Amino acid sequence: MRKRITLLAVVAVTALALSGCSNSDSGTTDSTDAGSGSDAALFEVASNVDLTGSPTFDAMTERGSVKVGVKEDQPGLGYLDAATGERTGFDIEIAQWIAATLGFPEDKIEFTAIPSANRESAIVNGDIDYYVGTYSITDKRKEQVDFAGPYFVTGQGLLVAADNTDITSEKDLAGKTVCSATGSTPIQNIKDNFPDTKTVEFDTYSQCVEALKDGSADAVTTDEAILIGYAAQEPDSLKVVGEPFTVEKYGVGLPKGDDALRAYINDMFTNGGDTWTAIYDSTLGQSGTTVEQPAVDAY
Ligand code: GLU
Repeated sequence: MRKRITLLAVVAVTALALSGCSNSDSGTTDSTDAGSGSDAALFEVASNVDLTGSPTFDAMTERGSVKVGVKEDQPGLGYLDAATGERTGFDIEIAQWIAATLGFPEDKIEFTAIPSANRESAIVNGDIDYYVGTYSITDKRKEQVDFAGPYFVTGQGLLVAADNTDITSEKDLAGKTVCSATGSTPIQNIKDNFPDTKTVEFDTYSQCVEALKDGSADAVTTDEAILIGYAAQEPDSLKVVGEPFTVEKYGVGLPKGDDALRAYINDMFTNGGDTWTAIYDSTLGQSGTTVEQPAVDAY
């Protein structure tokens, strides 16, 4: 509860700064009330957002809601609790922070789960306004979409059965069968650089975890941040091995050419370090890890 109150206060200040209000305004005064209910909003919603020149923002404003693409089977990052309908995780809160900074409360966000292979088409077709879901910034993807960020950095890792002793790093993958998601950077890396390794692929990483558990794959490979979440759910049967062997910089996927929206979200990341840390601490940081917020790259 304390974390939520602190977070709200931090975000209120950020939202005020971004919306051009002075700090003498009373934007933080309702933080105690907001923190007292179990369904309290996490982020203070900005008002009078000035974002001219963004066709995406214009469409959101006209519609009165935000359409956000996410993952929903990645604990700690983007997860849907089927029983309660609650979405949790670092990426979900980043998505909510963006929406609030654009002036949209949580009940005006329409989340859609979109698997790795379908992200570019969902953005290009206008099915979503933006995407927040372990989406690595790559030059190939930038041919079709734009990215704000990076807002997180991780690297490709390996998940194996807890009793596995013959895979301790990516150097042990020759002759093994490795599972990853279609259209992801990790599966492409295995195909390109590990010619002696067999691949099996599914739409989602949770399907790969099932393949690992039923013995049809020897390892699951994707970003270590994702794998840590699966291992934490089932520590008796799954473990992460080795060190990250690529660099994956997560960006917010945006329609190509919407420079105003990209600059606005980048400003939010640059000026919102305390909010970023509070989001991290309440999600991925629960596993005891600490990382620095990455600097927003010049595009
Ligand atoms: N970050 C990698 C990618 O964007 C792997 C995770 C994912 O598939 O979402 O392809």
